[in-house]
Amino acid sequence: MKTLDRIGDLTGKHVLMRADFDVALGANGAVEEEYRIVRQRGTLEYLLSHGARVVLASHIGSAPSFKPLLPQLERHLGVQIRFCRDFDELSAFWKGPGNLALLENLRANPGETDNSEAFAGQLVAGSDLYVNNAFAVCHREHASVATAPLMLESCAGLLVQEEVGRLSAAASAPADGKVIFMSGAKASTKVPVIRALLDHASTIALGGIIANDLLRERGVDILASRTDEDAHALMQGLDVNDARLTLPTDFTVVDGQYLDIGPITAAAYAELARGAKRIIWNGPMGKFEDARFLEGTRVLARAIADSSAEKVVGGGDTVAAIAKCGLRLDAFGFVSTGGGAMLAFLAGQQLPGLKALGYYDHA
Ligand code: ADP
Ligand code: MG
Repeated sequence: MKTLDRIGDLTGKHVLMRADFDVALGANGAVEEEYRIVRQRGTLEYLLSHGARVVLASHIGSAPSFKPLLPQLERHLGVQIRFCRDFDELSAFWKGPGNLALLENLRANPGETDNSEAFAGQLVAGSDLYVNNAFAVCHREHASVATAPLMLESCAGLLVQEEVGRLSAAASAPADGKVIFMSGAKASTKVPVIRALLDHASTIALGGIIANDLLRERGVDILASRTDEDAHALMQGLDVNDARLTLPTDFTVVDGQYLDIGPITAAAYAELARGAKRIIWNGPMGKFEDARFLEGTRVLARAIADSSAEKVVGGGDTVAAIAKCGLRLDAFGFVSTGGGAMLAFLAGQQLPGLKALGYYDHA
């Protein structure tokens, strides 16, 4: 994969940087996941300090436009940014003197998710170099991710480089002492990771809806608990009784639903975390948005924070749950900015965004 350090002189170069500003917003419009924005700083500062002119391009799902968010972005990035509402303004920016601009929400144009070649062409018009620094969308076959980089010289930004390095190291590290906590929802994204990493882990400890899915496969009565409809099909060929799959033994139950792991399971999982050499964690252990079901996640999160293991953590809800527990993110080792992208990468799937950067060329 081509990386920034292998690009020649950046002085005066026009760089289109696919950034990741897809943050949640609070009721008052305040950014709630500033860590995502802050993680874009390294690459941006690298480009600007090497004399490049940069246009940032990102999508945001929680707002139609970036315009009202500009002051917050400027504050978290520590720079002044000109706003380009459309491709005419982008073209005017490239012809003018400034060194940093932000393009309007990519998903405001259907060409982005349709992976339109015409849209990708408009995006890179006027640029000499494309830099992908948006790991969280690398699993998307979208114009700014999968097609734009094929149209000009392109490379991975520092964040994508770091994500790929840390996640592949975590996935391929020896099984001995490696504990994986997988929880939350959506079997379609998690079962492939379980399959791919089972032989590379000493234990995969499960919680949440994915644990319900597995318990049901084992023939355990899970009452009226939530399950994934496609779980049975997804688990075909997987030995659900594999001794390395650890399942909860007690639960917080309300109205016949398992809504959190119980105290015995939480203590056992915490013990696993404390004794691990390496930890990968994705997914809250319960329906954590409701404080009544946060305890299992809190007990596990505290143990992971205290553990001296090498840690990789990821997932939008996982990061939100850590915040809800009042714990600092920097106690969790490498915190991936990718949810779906992280899971797809760990499952060994080819990510279109990485493929476009040549990541799989020599694999
Ligand atoms: P992440 O975003 O970190 O990858 P997920 O999206 O997979 O995590 O899982 C989080 C979601 O799973 C939350 O909405 C949470 O409420 C839900 N969840 C977890 N455990 C349960 C449970 N036992 N019953 C119902 N919902 C659950
Ligand atoms: Mg989620």
